[in-house]
Amino acid sequence: MKNLSPESKARLRSRSRLVHLGRDAETSQGFINLPAFRGSTVLFPDVATMKSRKQRYTYGTHGTPTIDALAEAWTAIAGAAGAVLAPTGMAAIAVALMSALSAGDHLLMTDSAYEPTRTFCQGTLKRMGVETTYYDPRIGAGIEALFRANTKAVFLESPGSLSLEVQDVPAIAAIAHARSACVIADNTWATPLNFPPHAHGVDLAIDAGTKYLGGHADLLLGLISANAAWLKRLAATHDEFAIPPGPEDVFLALRGLRTMEIRLREAERQSLELARWLGARPETLRVLHPALPDHPDHALWRRDFTGASGLFSIILKPVSERSVAAMLDGLELFGLGYSWGGYESLVIPFDCSRARSATRWAPGGPALRFSVGLEDIDDLKDDLARGFERLNATA
Ligand SMILES: *Cc1c(COP(=O)(O)O)cnc(C)c1O
Repeated sequence: MKNLSPESKARLRSRSRLVHLGRDAETSQGFINLPAFRGSTVLFPDVATMKSRKQRYTYGTHGTPTIDALAEAWTAIAGAAGAVLAPTGMAAIAVALMSALSAGDHLLMTDSAYEPTRTFCQGTLKRMGVETTYYDPRIGAGIEALFRANTKAVFLESPGSLSLEVQDVPAIAAIAHARSACVIADNTWATPLNFPPHAHGVDLAIDAGTKYLGGHADLLLGLISANAAWLKRLAATHDEFAIPPGPEDVFLALRGLRTMEIRLREAERQSLELARWLGARPETLRVLHPALPDHPDHALWRRDFTGASGLFSIILKPVSERSVAAMLDGLELFGLGYSWGGYESLVIPFDCSRARSATRWAPGGPALRFSVGLEDIDDLKDDLARGFERLNATA
């Protein structure tokens, strides 16, 4: 195996990059996959080298070849100046926010954020003297009116968790940059394969690698990529926290990287077919899938995204909680559980009204979120059709 030249790295198309980035023939001694380097101590050959601070690896918290391989690959995939890894997606969000904010600062946070992100704002950030204002994810350029003299960061998540509003990222980023505020985005739904964050004006982009990068529901990982303006600050903050991910999880994420694009494309295809099928069911009130033309933000999605993922929601026509439980409890292929982006299909019932303060969540019926996996689409439809029979039998 030859290592990729910098020219090849730049020239290769996405799928080839996913296969070849982050591999080094010398480090892996010819084996295709790099091993999971584990360790705290790294030895120095002599005192002079130790004092020179020139040795690449010095201690387990400051990086390993396995971590570097994934960080370098992710940097290229995200179109970033650099990237750092954290043990979970939520830890990555916390590090990004702590990189941009100090006591006395003001944060603009999308009302559609992943709920633990809100909890971090109301907990740690509040204690640290950072005030958060939540804004309507569909605010677009109207966000200008919410800026204060001390607004230092705007946080976006597009599409939003559970409710899937698409945000006008370039418009919000332009306004934030005119006021020297950092633009942070949780890009987990799209991944850089469907939304290159830095090309759209994002300074710090977060991806919960737990989802599509891992892809097999067996690891936790967070990635933060930065543009040139924010990389130094991010790297310093990340280093102060000393939170490398576990070696096994990084190894598995590197393995997930190789198949990420084909899994994501298949998830997109399956989710579109299932979303259309669900939309045609008499029990469904509405489908929330940004890649479907009747989604209110479909035009924005078409403008900025190159694809969709397998995560979407639906609103059922009004029906009792007992009927929804009867539908979900009997499903054979759809697992009931948190997280998403794995090979197995999942569903959860949700009500995000308690996690919204700038907008009102009143969808008109019970809400379900689907993460569509790799099972045969007709088997998935059969499973749900039997679920609707149970729902109707108890209605
Ligand atoms: C799951 C998720 C996270 C957090 O990832 P963990 O690894 O579970 O901490 C962050 N943002 C979004 C949008 C997520 O869905």
